[in-house]
Amino acid sequence: MHKVIIIGSGCAGLTSAIYTARANLKPLVIDGFEPGGQLTLTTMVENFPGFPSGILGPELTEAMRKQAQHFGAEFRSGAVTSVDLKKRPFKIEAAKETFEAGTLIVAAGASARLLGLDSERQLIGHGVSTCATCDGYFFRDKEIAVVGGGDTAMEEANFLTRFAKTVSILHRRRDFRASKIMLDRARANDKIRFVTPVAIEEILDPAKQNVEAVKLRNLEDNTTSTLAIDGLFIGIGHEPNTKIFRGQLDMDANGYLKTHHGSRTNVEGVFAAGDVQDHVYRQAVTAAGSGCMAAMDAEKFLESLSE
Ligand code: NAP
Repeated sequence: MHKVIIIGSGCAGLTSAIYTARANLKPLVIDGFEPGGQLTLTTMVENFPGFPSGILGPELTEAMRKQAQHFGAEFRSGAVTSVDLKKRPFKIEAAKETFEAGTLIVAAGASARLLGLDSERQLIGHGVSTCATCDGYFFRDKEIAVVGGGDTAMEEANFLTRFAKTVSILHRRRDFRASKIMLDRARANDKIRFVTPVAIEEILDPAKQNVEAVKLRNLEDNTTSTLAIDGLFIGIGHEPNTKIFRGQLDMDANGYLKTHHGSRTNVEGVFAAGDVQDHVYRQAVTAAGSGCMAAMDAEKFLESLSE
């Protein structure tokens, strides 16, 4: 049995791992679908304290992972398929193995939201991407579109102008959810143009296993048009990875885990950290902070059992 199991290896999970490892609790970190979490899908992180010139997201998570390993954290790859939190030790199934935990820290994060089109599903990895950092390189001198009106869409669009000939931001409203600074930066970029208010009806052409165009509907006058592109980046937000906890851990209407008194969930001995329980701040530094809180809460909980 493990004293502490941490589900997720993003900023929150890795910070929990550093703290619990330093407390000699030998945590086991189960990586999940996206090892390293969302930071691995981002480019330059300019607002994580301590890096005046910024740091690449993947570099930051890799450094945190090494730091956790240095203090004795163990890692297992594989997504968690089910959990049984009815009694302790908690049971966690991942990669066809069952693990037992005295305490559990859920830091499973959130995943990129998709539009839900069949053509999107068929073309993901063939010109449709949720990660500019990973795939931008493949679109040198090409026409790219980014869908979304939040900070993610602005950040991706700006980043993609390093490679692309032009980047069209496709958004369903004339108003943008993005912060002023990110929006202004995109507006000032000569390679970026804004196409609003439009919905993507289809991505062409799944039959050719290639992105050639998007069919757009103007949501004001209901007209349709076709925009020729070579790649489409989906930047429309994220969903918390909480399906496996349904019926066991309390969550809000959008599926984010509810926490109280720090990182405590409704199940004694189960703690939550990072984007899986935060739909407001969602920053690397707040995820790291809440990972630290969960580790300290877990440590106190284990101590209280031995008193
Ligand atoms: P977000 O703020 O929720 O924005 C999602 C955008 O996608 C919205 O404009 C939304 O449109 C659109 N959208 C959602 N579902 C859609 C659908 N099915 N079809 C078409 N459009 C759809 O998400 P986010 O941009 O990922 O940002 C999340 C949080 O992370 C924010 O707090 C943000 O500030 C933060 N963030 C910060 C940075 C940074 O500071 N470097 C970078 C990225 C993200 P509507 O506006 O019409 O709803």
